[in-house]
This record gives sequence, C-alpha cells and structure tokens, in this order.
Amino acid sequence: MVSSILIIGGSDAGISAALRAKELDPATAVTMLVADAYPNYSICGLPFYLSGEVEDWHQLAHRTLEEIQAAGIRVALNTRAVEISPQSQAVVTHSHEGGTRTQTYDRLVIATGAQPVQPSILGIDQPGVFLLHSMDDSFKVSAFLQLHEPRRALIVGAGYIGLEMADALTHRGVAVTVVEQQRTVLPTVDETMGESLRRHLEEHGVDVRTGVKIYQIEQTGKALHVTGNPEFDREVDLVLVVVGVEPVTDLAQTAGIELGMRGAIPVDRMMATTVPGVYAAGDCVETYHRLLDRATYLPLGTTAHKQGRIAGENVLGGSRQFAGTLGTQVVKIFDWAIARTGLRDQEAKAAGYVPKTVDFVTWDHKAYYPGAQELRFRITGDSQTGQLLGAQIIGPWQASVAKRVDLFAMALYHQMMVRDLLEVDLSYTPPLGSPWDAVQMAADYWLRTDTH
Ligand SMILES: Cc1cc2nc3c(=O)[nH]c(=O)nc-3n(C[C@H](O)[C@H](O)[C@H](O)COP(=O)(O)OP(=O)(O)OC[C@H]3O[C@@H](n4cnc5c(N)ncnc54)[C@H](O)[C@@H]3O)c2cc1C
Repeated sequence: MVSSILIIGGSDAGISAALRAKELDPATAVTMLVADAYPNYSICGLPFYLSGEVEDWHQLAHRTLEEIQAAGIRVALNTRAVEISPQSQAVVTHSHEGGTRTQTYDRLVIATGAQPVQPSILGIDQPGVFLLHSMDDSFKVSAFLQLHEPRRALIVGAGYIGLEMADALTHRGVAVTVVEQQRTVLPTVDETMGESLRRHLEEHGVDVRTGVKIYQIEQTGKALHVTGNPEFDREVDLVLVVVGVEPVTDLAQTAGIELGMRGAIPVDRMMATTVPGVYAAGDCVETYHRLLDRATYLPLGTTAHKQGRIAGENVLGGSRQFAGTLGTQVVKIFDWAIARTGLRDQEAKAAGYVPKTVDFVTWDHKAYYPGAQELRFRITGDSQTGQLLGAQIIGPWQASVAKRVDLFAMALYHQMMVRDLLEVDLSYTPPLGSPWDAVQMAADYWLRTDTH
C-alpha cells in the first residue's frame, strides 16, 4: 500500500503530481519539497511582470500556499533535497535554516525542472548581467530596473524568452539590442518566419543582430561593454543572458539514475524512471514525441503539467500513459503571435518522412468586415501518404493564431491527413472567420500545390 508520496519540486510538474495524487486518494500523505519560497508560481509570466503589465508578482501564483495546503498537501518551503537513497526509500534535505533531515517515502516524484544554460562569456558574473528562469532571478532584474533605471539593454539569445523580454523592456522605455548567434530570430520556426518576425521587432525599435556570438562583457565606468564575433561591440546598462535551459538532474544521479538525452532523466510513458518507486516529470525528463515515436528534450509548461498529473496518478498504482508532445508552442511578441506544432520540413525528413512544405497567406476573417488581418501559414505534410506533419503560423496576436495552431495540433494528435482538415465542421461568422476557415484554406493550398 502507498501511504506516503514525496515530491521534489513545487512548480508545474510537482504541483500537478501532488494535486492528482490527493484527488485520487485523499488519505495518502503527500509532501512537496520546494527549494525556494514560491510554490506553483507561473514563471511563464515573468516577462509580463518585468514589463510592468503584471503589477504585483504575487499575481503570478497559480494557487496560493494556503490553497495548496487546503488541498491536503504538506509543503516544505526553502527545503532542498540533496540526496536520494532508493535502498532505504529516503531523501536527505537541507532547509534554509540549516537543518538537515531524512524523509522517507513509499513513492517518489522528481520534478526538479530546468535551469538556464550559462554560456562561456567572459564577465558573465558581474553586476548588471542577469539570467532569467526563477522568481528570484526576476526579483534581481526588477530591483536593478528600479534602482538603476537602465536606458540600454542587450539580450543574448533570440529564443522565445529573449524576444518576450525584448518586448517587455521596450514596453518600459529601455532601448533593446538582441543578439543571436544563429541566422534568424526564434530558431524554433523556419527562417522565413524568423525573418518576418525580425522586421516586426525592428519596426518596434529593437536592434536585432544575428550571426553574432558574444564572448565578453566588461565593466567600463557605470556601463557594460559587450563584445562579440564578428565585429560587434556595444555599450549598455543591462545584459540579459537567455540562451536556453538544461535539466536539473544532479539529485536524480544520487539515486543511481543514468542520464539520457541532453542530460535529462529517461522515463517511460508512465513517467517511471529506471529506479523502482521513483517517478519523474517536467523539464528534468526526456519527453516522448508522438510523431517521432521516440524521446526528445522539449521543456514546456504545458508538458510539465500533463506529465506531473500522470506521475501523480501512477504513484498510486495507476497505469496512465503520457500521450506525447507535439512541441506545440506560441509566443506573443509586440503585436504578433508566432506558433508552431509538429515537425518542420527538415525535422520530418530526418525522421524518414517525405515532406512537402508550402507557404500560404490569407485573411483571418472575411475581408469586407473591418479589421481583417493577414495570417501566414507554413504547412508540412507527407507527400506520399498525405499525413499532416506540422504547421507554423505568424500573424496579429488577436487573429486567433494560437487557437488555429491548436487545430493543427488536434489533427496531428489524431494522425489526420491534410485533406481531413477540409471535412471538419468549424465555426464561422464574418468578423471571426470564413466559411472555409483560414486553416482549411491552408490545407487546401497544400493539397493543390506541387512543390517539385
Ligand atoms: C520566462 C519563462 C517563460 C516561459 N513561458 C512559457 C510559455 O509561455 N509556455 C510554456 O509552455 N512554457 C513556458 N516556459 C517554460 C515553463 O515555465 C517550464 O516548462 C515549466 O516551468 C517546467 O515546470 P517544472 O515543474 O518541470 O520545472 P521548474 O518550473 O523548473 O520548477 C522546478 C521546481 O523544482 C524545485 N527544485 C529544484 N531542485 C530542487 C531540489 N533539489 N529540492 C527541492 N526542490 C527543488 C524548484 O524550486 C522548482 O520549484 C517558460 C519559462 C520561463 C523561464
């Protein structure tokens, strides 16, 4: 019988596991160890707190501590797990107050998440240079913004967090330069999409430099002198380094777990690790990809919630399986939303498909109704079987970009053919769509287009 569940980590994956276990068996003791003081906070909301759009960081709490405790979950804040002993089913913890304890468990869930990658840039540790992942990181940036009122910022990395922060700092009146070592911004979408987004950033005053690698940050008086290759140097007041994340897995290794792809914890689709009684979920694990039918590393909040919930069910003897990620994601940058799901052309090719990818532009709703805006689609399907493989969309953020990409995600989940999209009964009214929705028009264009 399982009478005690210990969960390490109190963010998306940890809280989802805890809530699901309590929901299924209120009699089981569920304890959540959290290294910091912020259980169940939306770190996805940090750029909007730093922009000032969310005024008070407390608003980022999905649930308050009291609400979590009212669900019957014991929460140990400022308590870091430092060692797991599967033989004795025990975890050694250190609390901020200095106390060391050993806590036993019947089942364990590791949900230690991810941490920002720290690239080898000389001078990255000096004042005025920040990473951004945790609540504490955001407080440091916020304090610096208030105290020093920087006028110029440089962001290293044009992934979605870097670009959200470019928007956020511009919103505060800071002049922003974004530097990316790859050829375009937002390298998770194709270059044509990245190029459009780059122009949109520039229209909003962001200086975008691609193909540049930053190697040094030096203090010069009150400013920071940033140098990169080829031929880049800039004086700014604040530097933000956001070049991706890596799984936090030192603790898992103490349990004898051998790490897999990009140092993440290998799990099966029930979220069980290779160690009996130990489950893991969220940004610290390898993630099963539904189209590739293999493990990937794709850290996202959406996935962490689902995996945590599955772990919370299976620690109580359940047999729920994770259905798999499709890498569905969306980001809002200034007036635009950019979204993707499934595979891009080269990813599909590498996976053994024979992809065909087309670009298609149409209106988000009937052009005669005021405010119609252009949406750009990039659709990938298998040219031999007709199976839908992926979609990318860029357009004004109010034009249902996110919900339209979700339609493609739903179709991918069900392994639908591109032609099936034309048969789905979608809603229509002129201010919001067309009798054939833009998604269906894009699918039709894919069917009619020969790219060879
Ligand atoms: C700025 C930003 C914006 C984002 N925006 C989006 C978005 O729009 N959409 C999206 O899907 N995803 C987004 N993400 C990603 C998303 O936030 C993560 O995928 C998600 O938080 C992962 O949840 P997690 O529980 O696995 O790990 P984390 O959120 O990393 O949490 C890990 C938890 O483990 C605790 N912990 C770690 N080590 C220990 C230890 N030894 N002992 C005890 N506790 C420990 C930490 O304190 C924390 O509570 C964003 C991330 C950031 C940083």
